[in-house]
Amino acid sequence: MVVAIDGPAGSGKSTIAKMLAEKLGLMFMNTGSFYRGVTLALLRAGGGGLDGSGGTKPDLSDEGAIIAFAGSVPLDYRNGHLFLGEEDVDALLRGDAVESIVAPLSAIVGVRHIVNQKIRAVAQTSGIVCEGRDMTTVVFPDAEYKFFLDASPAARAKRRYEQGTSSLSLSQIEKSIAERDEVDRNKKEGSLKIAPDAVYLDTSDLTINGVCDIIVSKIHL
Ligand code: C5P
Repeated sequence: MVVAIDGPAGSGKSTIAKMLAEKLGLMFMNTGSFYRGVTLALLRAGGGGLDGSGGTKPDLSDEGAIIAFAGSVPLDYRNGHLFLGEEDVDALLRGDAVESIVAPLSAIVGVRHIVNQKIRAVAQTSGIVCEGRDMTTVVFPDAEYKFFLDASPAARAKRRYEQGTSSLSLSQIEKSIAERDEVDRNKKEGSLKIAPDAVYLDTSDLTINGVCDIIVSKIHL
């Protein structure tokens, strides 16, 4: 069974998908982690440190080279964590270096095809609750359950700020989220949009538990 959730950055999808997966006894999959894993590997290949910071900024306009590189990255997903080979890199994926280029990197169509294949392969092994930008529209168009979680830009920036994974100020985070929204909504393939058969929820004024209860009430195992 696939429960597919899409929505913009900071809409609460990750926390909610994780809770849901636990409640329903399914695997949780944060699909942004796959794009972040490719980004981290690329930054490290350019001399970046453990979290990718400090190296040369990769040239994303050379799409052929980026796609070839993405195909060579040993991405794996186990127990809700992204691995590069045998290294669990999950805790290193949300720093500013990765954050600054993950959206344009994920706009490269060839990279999306590689990541989609990996996501579907992992989903073959277990029922999943997955969240991302194109789960309900492209990757799992036949998912049994589809949801679109939204929230106001201000509420989303505040949530990211409170996560404490960024050294940016609240207004810088708001700007960075707005830039990523722009990229995510305008991708050639896999752009962020609401599937006609998805349940739409604005979570700005709802608690995590409140959102979870609404979603659970719509799922019949
Ligand atoms: O969800 P998260 O913010 O971790 O995703 C990181 C980036 O990866 C997003 O900004 C988005 O551009 C991209 N992404 C995507 N398709 C997905 C999941 C994430 O393009 N299914």
